[in-house]
Amino acid sequence: MIPVQGYSGATVAVLGLGRSGLSAARGLREGGANVVVWDDNEQARDAATAEGFTTRELAKQGAFDGVATLIVSPGIPHLYPEPNKVVRAAWDAGVPVDNDISLFFRSFATPEWDNFERMPKIIAVTGSNGKSTTSALIHHILEHAQRPTQLGGNIGRGVLDLDPAIDGEVVVLELSSYQTDLARSLTPDVGIFTNLSPDHLDRHDGLGGYFAAKRRLFSEGGPDRCIIGVDEDEGQYLANQMAGNAVDDRVIRVSSGRKLTGDGWTVFAKKGFLAEWRKGKQMASIDLRTVPGLPGAHNHQNACAAYAACRSVGLAPRVIEAAFHSFGGLPHRSQRVGEANGVTFVNDSKATNVDSAAKALQAFQNIRWICGGLEKEGGLSALLPHVGGVTKAYVIGREAANFAMQLGDLPHEVCTDMATAVARAAADAVKGDTVLLAPAAASFDQYDSFEKRGDDFIAQVAAVTGG
Ligand code: ADP
Repeated sequence: MIPVQGYSGATVAVLGLGRSGLSAARGLREGGANVVVWDDNEQARDAATAEGFTTRELAKQGAFDGVATLIVSPGIPHLYPEPNKVVRAAWDAGVPVDNDISLFFRSFATPEWDNFERMPKIIAVTGSNGKSTTSALIHHILEHAQRPTQLGGNIGRGVLDLDPAIDGEVVVLELSSYQTDLARSLTPDVGIFTNLSPDHLDRHDGLGGYFAAKRRLFSEGGPDRCIIGVDEDEGQYLANQMAGNAVDDRVIRVSSGRKLTGDGWTVFAKKGFLAEWRKGKQMASIDLRTVPGLPGAHNHQNACAAYAACRSVGLAPRVIEAAFHSFGGLPHRSQRVGEANGVTFVNDSKATNVDSAAKALQAFQNIRWICGGLEKEGGLSALLPHVGGVTKAYVIGREAANFAMQLGDLPHEVCTDMATAVARAAADAVKGDTVLLAPAAASFDQYDSFEKRGDDFIAQVAAVTGG
């Protein structure tokens, strides 16, 4: 646990008692704060009370009297589509609203660091897609290189549940747009922006707000090194803003598919090869085509970002290359879960938005595509240019028929539930086909989470393959 600094003897309110809220409450208490907590859910309150925390109904008149700050969980809207009533009450009382990420950045460094030989570093990853894979890959490479490292934030442990740093440690944090939007302190040593495509637009009032939330990672203090995916205009804009001139190696530009020219520091993947260029010279090249855990151009983008991050903390290209080969990938992202009669089954349940599904469709051929679920804003039109490799779609979800209507001329079948979709796709598939779950939609109409949806897919695949 990281004891939170700066609030000893002060009263701090915590709203939302899920994983990050509870760990914030614990970190604050450890740092000497007087913590009061609230969650509309009674069970969550009971769990906090059992740990000895005092509950206070924060929306009530006067609840913020004497409160120094309000810590809000990422699942709770702090502005759009509408601020939570407790957030409004804090505004009215003039109490600063903040989050656990910010507490972490303020509390991680301690006087003990003066005795370290190598300063600990924080690498923070944001972007629309690929955050978890990139974060986990960096962590894996660092472990492989025997550097002390921890993984946290949106993946692994909550930030305040991490252990205090040891000499030379590198902490890898995955940060969502909700987290970067609210944090008052955001000071990583290395910041990564993977890419940008529409998602969570209701929470940010559109794409502009969504981008603004992500780019705060690069403005509130500014990292020493900025690793920026430049395949969209927003990434180009950000890289341009962060670099002082054309050779400024504060910025490492990353692309998937495009050779990046110029005298700056770049890492790009083209035709399955990763290349690192610096000051007009190629420094290294890695064949990614034979790396089993990172299939497809989207994963090559993740490999480039992770490579750049590891180069930033001093690792050698050959060490990184060796670690790529032992990376197993993450569950529910391009995860091979079965094979029978020459048909491969791939679980990409995490493809909850149009861009991630498009990337999954580009990574495979002869696809029997299982899609559908709770549709996101913006519709499916951006996906249609990428369905060239799809033989047929098998549509799931409560609104499967509506979803199917948007697929245009693509051959499809309305299956509604996963068992039917997997059985139908497996029955139609021939040798060389891939049955791919890449829903392009959230899971909440039928499942509690994308993980549960992916687990159901795996179970149904086992049922049809006898695996
Ligand atoms: P995040 O943490 O940003 O949601 P994940 O690594 O969990 O990212 O991947 C989310 C989804 O996006 C998965 O479907 C995955 O296959 C896909 N994906 C992974 N990396 C990328 C990328 N660089 N660009 C687009 N899609 C990606």
